Amino acid sequence: MTMTDFITRIAPTPSGFIHAGNALNFILTYIIAKHLNATLRLRIDDIDKLRSKKVFIDDIFETLKWLGLEYDYGAKDSDDFLKNYSYNNEVLFEELNNLHKKFPMLFYACKCSRKDIKGIYHGNCKELKLKLQKDKTSLRLHIKQNSYVWLGDFCIELFENIGDIILWQKDGFCSYQLASLLDDEKNGVNLLVRGEDLLNSSAIQLFMANLFGFKNFSKAIFIHHPLMLDQNGKKLSKSLNSHALYQWRKNNKKPYELFQKTAEIIGVKESWQINTKEELLACKDELEAFFRLNSQKLDRQ
Ligand SMILES: [Zn+2]
Repeated sequence: MTMTDFITRIAPTPSGFIHAGNALNFILTYIIAKHLNATLRLRIDDIDKLRSKKVFIDDIFETLKWLGLEYDYGAKDSDDFLKNYSYNNEVLFEELNNLHKKFPMLFYACKCSRKDIKGIYHGNCKELKLKLQKDKTSLRLHIKQNSYVWLGDFCIELFENIGDIILWQKDGFCSYQLASLLDDEKNGVNLLVRGEDLLNSSAIQLFMANLFGFKNFSKAIFIHHPLMLDQNGKKLSKSLNSHALYQWRKNNKKPYELFQKTAEIIGVKESWQINTKEELLACKDELEAFFRLNSQKLDRQ
């Protein structure tokens, strides 16, 4: 067996305070990276400059420190991030234009607002040949019929279920799907550990990666993990501030139960007390089995 040099990343969005569910993803990404001897990057997804705030960026660094999760590449603190790592919308726009030149028949500007679109959007604006113009149009990727993406056992047909994908938003910012994909490809990311709510996102990004000829991302391995739910069985939300970890820190609460919860996800016996990353990393058999059972790859498209 040849060993792959894995590169993975923790990629939080600074649009709210980090909650227990985000931390679970950080810990899981970290221990899988350590287990595989992978390179771990930190990327802070501040594409949406309107919702990104310094206080949320600070919170990301404080949370990583509190959890004790170190990484190989990425900003060291908020100042370093804002100076050297923040998304550059103009660079993204150049990359968008380069792709646009390669796929002139598939990219088109769309004036529809969310209200105009009922259900799945199949490109009513495609024939209008509109210009991309801030606050007036977005740029979309046209999805043809029978656009299947097989990711492990998961299969989705994009035409029926997703429709034409927004690449550049009306507000003048790059879409999450494209910005995240471009960054991953550029940095050679070939292992993604994500919540299962991002399964459709993974399929969309894989579809684009394959279409654009992105060598790293189209061969990446994906692990989609269960989400942490609240008492009512709902997924934790940044906007509701539910289970925000800065509150834990304020109350001097330690992150033990987050490590215990991660251990449960990878299949460690519940009776085992797991309180630290070291204890988690010692569960080598469980980690290996979890990785083997949950790895997904683009099968065909
Ligand atoms: Zn339209």
